[in-house]
Amino acid sequence: MLKKTVADLHPYVPEEPLQDLQAKLGIDKLVRLSANENPFGTSPRVKKALATATSLPLNEYPDGNANALREAVAQYLQVDPEQLLFGCGLDEIIELITRTFLEPGDEVVEPWPTFSEYKLHDQIEAAKTVDVPVTADGRVDADAMVAAITDKTKLLWLCNPNNPTGTLLKPVELEALLSRIPQHVLVLIDEAYIEFVDGVDNPSAVQFLDQFSNIVVMRTFSKIYGLAGMRVGYAVVPKSLIASMQAVRLPYNLNSVSQTLALAALDDQEFVADTKRKVVAARKSWTDFLTAQKLNFYPSQTNFIFFQVPDAAGLHDFLMHNGFLVRDRLRPDWLRVTFGSAEENAQLQKLIAEYLAAHK
Ligand SMILES: *Cc1c(COP(=O)(O)O)cnc(C)c1O
Repeated sequence: MLKKTVADLHPYVPEEPLQDLQAKLGIDKLVRLSANENPFGTSPRVKKALATATSLPLNEYPDGNANALREAVAQYLQVDPEQLLFGCGLDEIIELITRTFLEPGDEVVEPWPTFSEYKLHDQIEAAKTVDVPVTADGRVDADAMVAAITDKTKLLWLCNPNNPTGTLLKPVELEALLSRIPQHVLVLIDEAYIEFVDGVDNPSAVQFLDQFSNIVVMRTFSKIYGLAGMRVGYAVVPKSLIASMQAVRLPYNLNSVSQTLALAALDDQEFVADTKRKVVAARKSWTDFLTAQKLNFYPSQTNFIFFQVPDAAGLHDFLMHNGFLVRDRLRPDWLRVTFGSAEENAQLQKLIAEYLAAHK
């Protein structure tokens, strides 16, 4: 009865509710540093907007075009409001893209490792994922990505900065890569973490939208804006494709509360800047720590860091029983840690040092 591709699927495993995990482990407090959430919460303006959201007409369908949010995002990014496509999280945009473009047998080129949902949806559409391993220093291998393109290639994913490696393709590198990708390939640039990039002028691919007609740029409110619970993501889509993508999108995919709160979040760029400052400081502390521990890691431009440890599963378990959930099984012998508050980072680093010292 099932589609064959669905019968064979390895589903994405979402985070287990913290309370359930704590009860299972028999501990009072588990700090989740496995999902790249914002440990500093969200903007106070969002909370204020939530208080006034009680006056929203909940019996009415939301604005199917998210017009207020659309105008605000268009202004923020300096793009045409017509080019924006909103989703119930960036997750839904990923699904929408694969649903709109992929036919059985199409090929999709992506770096490896990268965000696992791209491949999941390739699989559902019976498309073939072509994994292109990152270089030894964790960067997207531009030459190998280009070499992997065939006349069957329909999509090419670039997560920039990349999850889980944390590495960034700088604008000059990105532009050079884009100029080598043929027009029949749609390039999908996932910028879920772009706001965390530091020391690079104008890192976003939004600046290339006029230059290349085959790129889509995606963003989310789940990471730096601290609004993962409200599920809002969006894409900037070439004008030639937007009508078809809007036709595939469910008409009321973004509920009215989410629209209202995302608008409030966007309005507080001070919160965004403050989070970035804290994340940049955390990044330095983690880089210093991993260097001192002589552990191999990739240079991160995100709110997490990916590093190699001899016994990743053992360390993961030790940390979990001591109150910290980090991400394992993204690649053998590697862990990904989301930066927490300064205090959480210090506690977690102490635990890791303790474990490593005891397991020499
Ligand atoms: C977190 C994440 C997403 C999903 O974002 P949502 O808007 O919460 O669905 C998409 N892409 C990458 C690379 C992510 O890390």
